[in-house]
Amino acid sequence: MLDLEIKAHHKSLADLGIETSKKVYWNLSPAELVEHAINNKEGVLTDVGALMADTGEFTGRSPKDRFIVKDNQTKDTIWWGDVNIPFEEAKFDLLYNKMVDFLQDKQLYVREAYAGADEKYRLKLKIVNTLAWHNMFCLNMFLRPSQDELKNFESDFTIICAPEFKANPETDGTRQSNFAVINLSKKILLIGGTAYAGEMKKGIFSVLNYILPHEHGVLSMHCSANKGKEGDTAVFFGLSGTGKTTLSADPKRALIGDDEHGWNEDSVFNFEGGCYAKVIDLSREKEPEIWDAIKFGAIVENTRFYKGTRTVDYENSEVTENTRTSYPIEHIKNALIPSQAGIPKNIFFLTADAFGVIPPISKLNKSQAMYHFISGYTAKVAGTEVGVTEPKTTFSACFGAAFLPLHPTKYAQLFGEKMEKHHVNVWLINTGWTGGPYGIGSRMKLKYTRAMITAALEGELDHVAYRTHSVFGVAIPETCPNVPDEVLSPRATWEDKYAYDRKARELGAAFIQNFEKYKEFATEDILAGAPKW
Ligand code: ATP
Ligand code: MN
Repeated sequence: MLDLEIKAHHKSLADLGIETSKKVYWNLSPAELVEHAINNKEGVLTDVGALMADTGEFTGRSPKDRFIVKDNQTKDTIWWGDVNIPFEEAKFDLLYNKMVDFLQDKQLYVREAYAGADEKYRLKLKIVNTLAWHNMFCLNMFLRPSQDELKNFESDFTIICAPEFKANPETDGTRQSNFAVINLSKKILLIGGTAYAGEMKKGIFSVLNYILPHEHGVLSMHCSANKGKEGDTAVFFGLSGTGKTTLSADPKRALIGDDEHGWNEDSVFNFEGGCYAKVIDLSREKEPEIWDAIKFGAIVENTRFYKGTRTVDYENSEVTENTRTSYPIEHIKNALIPSQAGIPKNIFFLTADAFGVIPPISKLNKSQAMYHFISGYTAKVAGTEVGVTEPKTTFSACFGAAFLPLHPTKYAQLFGEKMEKHHVNVWLINTGWTGGPYGIGSRMKLKYTRAMITAALEGELDHVAYRTHSVFGVAIPETCPNVPDEVLSPRATWEDKYAYDRKARELGAAFIQNFEKYKEFATEDILAGAPKW
């Protein structure tokens, strides 16, 4: 029998106060982590060699349990409220010590990694996990240092993630037993009581969303990005489920990243080293790049097999609709590595408008671009309760308010400066409903959305005729290669035109009401981009 016993690493966790009696595994390879995950009964293999794991009680992030420590550094800089909930310094120390105690008899997996493809702005992470599959998630999602870089790796931010550790809300300052607490001064992210791995990824995103704009004037963005053959960069902003990951995977363009980027003086760079794609109803036909990325090295979360097989049934939503896969970006054939490219030539705002009002593609002027960036609109389909069919509007500033530690106007200001400085085409794309609202119409065909984006990127919409939307004032192309003309005008796809006009005005009114809170920031120039009728 081969002896492949992994040698204990000599690095220590003493600087964190962690001294466990069990083994600490540093920077294991995918093969080693998969073996551990299976031995620990954390997951199983699928027939394509991916590791399948469940996230347990939490199948998504828990925004109400995401805290930021309020101290001298943060008290006047953070945008406190529902998104950034304050946590007492003393409670953090208590919770930290409790977690360290808890880890004393646990086997641990430690990973050293980067967040940020640009060396100048990267964060050096040390991640301490109790679960091997979590450590593999971090291997996939963060950037992987070379063996050489690992020799003298000095981290500057730590994640400790122990799902088995449950806080006591009575004494620990949390809301429930689960929590994610960011301490920006001590540079620690503590996660407990939840095994949703996305908390680690989005926790570090929030940290970068603080550091980069605040300390370096770099705009951080909740967007995907890719690069064309001519070297032109495109970025795709959008809230969850609007198509960032799906639409950035384009065989004709090199993938920069699918979710988190920075925009500095002269480039756009990925924060991550991998992708985290939704897999509900995934098919090879519609999303070949993502389908092919699911192989050894990838993780699939909360999925189920066809009975009696090890083949994942992507239509199965029995655990959650939010089934996911994470894989290193190299699993995408035309990934750009290092993941950094020039200033964007095209920006797409993706919205999944379940009201069926927003045109599938339209062009925004500068005012409209600012207005829509700050608004961050999408509309979610209603819950699955019987009889509830009316979609719900969501306005999330900068298309990612949940991850913004600073006031949204800080990001909007940086965005505005970049819009002034560079000539960028800004497009609004509705990947949501057409032919009527959710319940009557249907979701825009992915192949049409792809065709519209391709046309915009290849300059094919530069010389076509446009008409102006009656409420939103945006410019709608009258023709687009590979898309039937009638699909381009949402009003034309509705049977009841008056119903469309009513809905459009209602949605316009919702935009205006939402924008009230930015009154003080909004200049006349920005307000010129508001809907009117
Ligand atoms: P998150 O921030 O949660 O990662 P995301 O913006 O990356 O979300 P995607 O993972 O790309 O969202 O999800 C879009 C989903 O919608 C995919 O499952 C995709 O197959 C589906 N879809 C259906 N029609 C379209 C369309 N016209 N355009 C884009 N996506 C579509
Ligand atoms: Mn995504």
